[in-house]
Amino acid sequence: MIKENISQIEGDIGKCCIQCENNEGDIGKCRIQTNIFVTPSEVIEYLFCPRFIYFMNVLKIEQHEHKRKLVNKGRDIHILKMVCNKDYLRKKIGAIDKKIDVYLTSKKLKLVGRIDEVLFLENDEAAPLDYKYAFWEDRIYKTLRIQQTLYALLIEENFNKKVGKAFLVYVRSKNHLEEIRITENMKKEAIVIVNEIFDILNQNYFPKATKNKNKCLDCTYRNICSV
Ligand code: SF4
Repeated sequence: MIKENISQIEGDIGKCCIQCENNEGDIGKCRIQTNIFVTPSEVIEYLFCPRFIYFMNVLKIEQHEHKRKLVNKGRDIHILKMVCNKDYLRKKIGAIDKKIDVYLTSKKLKLVGRIDEVLFLENDEAAPLDYKYAFWEDRIYKTLRIQQTLYALLIEENFNKKVGKAFLVYVRSKNHLEEIRITENMKKEAIVIVNEIFDILNQNYFPKATKNKNKCLDCTYRNICSV
């Protein structure tokens, strides 16, 4: 969860890595009244299993440290790629301008996200571009589609531009570039998912377990989950 009154980001999105403007102590112990925002990373956790949100954000039980290290490794590559590609404009996909490492907030959706690149296209639309520290596997998982749709919603609200597509760069497959179409139905679905997460947070209810029991086999929360 991310809390409002943000002035600076100092770590991974999805973790309490921000400083309040009037910070008076540790995040989470802050005396200032704050509003909760969710991140696309948390939406991905929710899609993996709705109970993750409950364990992480209602009971405040962290996942294993090693997973965070892997995430950090991925983000290091992101930062490296962004530095390398700072001045490179992808004209082949219609980009005429871009902003890099963009942190966006939606007060309407209670959503925050950090986007590797926001591209401004020659058709007057905009699009997120995200670097993935992964191999291209000839398919795009639903979690990634939802993540990019959330970025699309953030861009639309902040830049007042329509977003109809997103781009992924698979760093470990020679920077393979993949385009995702972002439809209006996908935007509606992403908003429904964010609202489901807020239902868990606001009502503190224990959500249903994932239907895919294979996910439980090496889950951090297996011992306390009662599946
Ligand atoms: S053990 Fe299974 S149901 Fe429980 S949190 Fe983990 S993945 Fe979800």
